[in-house]
Amino acid sequence: MQHLGITGGIGSGKTTVCKIFETLGIPIYYADDRAKYLMSHDPDLIAGIIELFGQEAYLEPQVLNRAHIAQVAFNDKDKLAQLNALVHPAVGRDGLEWQAAQHDVPYTLKEAALLYESGSYRSLDKIIVVTAPLQLRIERVMARDGAQREDVEARISKQMPEAEKVNLADFVIYNDGEQALIPQVMGIHRLLSV
Ligand code: ATP
Repeated sequence: MQHLGITGGIGSGKTTVCKIFETLGIPIYYADDRAKYLMSHDPDLIAGIIELFGQEAYLEPQVLNRAHIAQVAFNDKDKLAQLNALVHPAVGRDGLEWQAAQHDVPYTLKEAALLYESGSYRSLDKIIVVTAPLQLRIERVMARDGAQREDVEARISKQMPEAEKVNLADFVIYNDGEQALIPQVMGIHRLLSV
């Protein structure tokens, strides 16, 4: 069984594409959601976060104080790097356990916004990158989140440029509003199902 990753910049359409793979019966590990879960439920990770951010890191047991963590990490790049150094390996371990529990499927998918940035692409067999034109991504996220253009642009500017991700990809899905998604997903699915 192969284990693939799927990534792309903010608003590229990763989640939308994953929903299509789900309808084909492919199990998906949503790394960002899982990271949030583990930060509240994994005892070793919780202990590490308290060591870094103090007892205020939790409002009550298993309830992360996101505002406190965001504020400290925003002002202290070292703390942010240390937090990532705790969370990424925890998600990596959890993802491997999840992969081992999957049976009777041709392949699995791990969806993550920062698959390349976190280094987790190294433990995956192949990577799918979903890409869309920058302006379309910004407009889609503004519509989805009710966000301001500048906020979306600021979030995008912190990520690896999408063109670099496309260059590193094994498969690329173009979500530009012109090329239909389902045939592109089906093409990849067929190649991976032989
Ligand atoms: P993020 O990294 O922010 O989680 P994402 O890459 O998962 O974003 P989606 O949430 O799948 O992106 O898509 C962003 C928004 O654009 C969603 O509201 C989605 O419904 C919409 N969208 C995505 N693809 C298309 C499409 N081909 N046509 C119309 N709307 C689309």
